[in-house]
Amino acid sequence: MEKRRTRTSKDILWVFIMSIIAVLALGQMIALFVTGGRKSGNAQNTGITAEKTDNTAADTGTADNDTAGDAAQSAGAAVPAETEAVSEEVLFELETETEIETEWADQFADKPDIDPSEWMFILANPWNSIGEYAPELTQFRDVEIDYRIYDAMNAFVTDAEAQGLTVVMTSGYRGYDTQSWLFQRKVDQYGGDEETAATIVARPGTSEHQTGLAADITDNYYEYMNESLEETALYQWMSAHCHEYGFIVRFPKGRQDVTGIMFEPWHYRYVGKEAAAYIMEHDLTLEEFLSLYQDAG
Ligand SMILES: [Zn+2]
Repeated sequence: MEKRRTRTSKDILWVFIMSIIAVLALGQMIALFVTGGRKSGNAQNTGITAEKTDNTAADTGTADNDTAGDAAQSAGAAVPAETEAVSEEVLFELETETEIETEWADQFADKPDIDPSEWMFILANPWNSIGEYAPELTQFRDVEIDYRIYDAMNAFVTDAEAQGLTVVMTSGYRGYDTQSWLFQRKVDQYGGDEETAATIVARPGTSEHQTGLAADITDNYYEYMNESLEETALYQWMSAHCHEYGFIVRFPKGRQDVTGIMFEPWHYRYVGKEAAAYIMEHDLTLEEFLSLYQDAG
């Protein structure tokens, strides 16, 4: 009995110790669970805060990434929270872009009723090849142009001359083969580097001159064919009146991001009087103007 009682006491003590260990372990687990949950929650909040900060920031770049990084660090294992915040951010940016585009297009609800598939709206740029498109040509002074714009070009140039300006037609239609030759020559100069060559000479099929609707018009007594032509009386008059004859300044200043081409104060493009007036009045590029008709069909 004596022995057994001692044993029972020892058993009770053992059970008691085990119970304390179990309670402590359970407590620890609960503590870990609660802390983990709270940290995870924080990470999500931080993520959302970062996103909200991003809404107001003009620059969507590094500042935002840093905040997201901090959140991930403090969260420890809470990577899913960060991923979620980033996806929401991307989604938000896409929604904003669409909203901006819609608002932007809304400004042009009064756009002219034109058919963008008509010949005068053919689009050639670095992203849009017209292949071997070749219009029917006519001679205008020293260059060739699409015969359909002869009268408009003649009136434009003749009226400029009536202002006392000295007009020279520097370049008009350039065919696919000519452009291929020019491009290949530049590629050879750069040891076969087509990418670099394409920044200087348009790839065949992507030159506006191949449409036959464009011409480079310069001043006979002004030897520079660069942005400084903007200062000449020739450019002042021609850019102010081109729309009256159906022409636009095809590569306006500061619009290289849209046209792919730097400011060219000598390059005029025919689009018809209605479109030209609208484009020039609203400071649009041909790319932007035509985009206004894409959704309408
Ligand atoms: Zn040109």
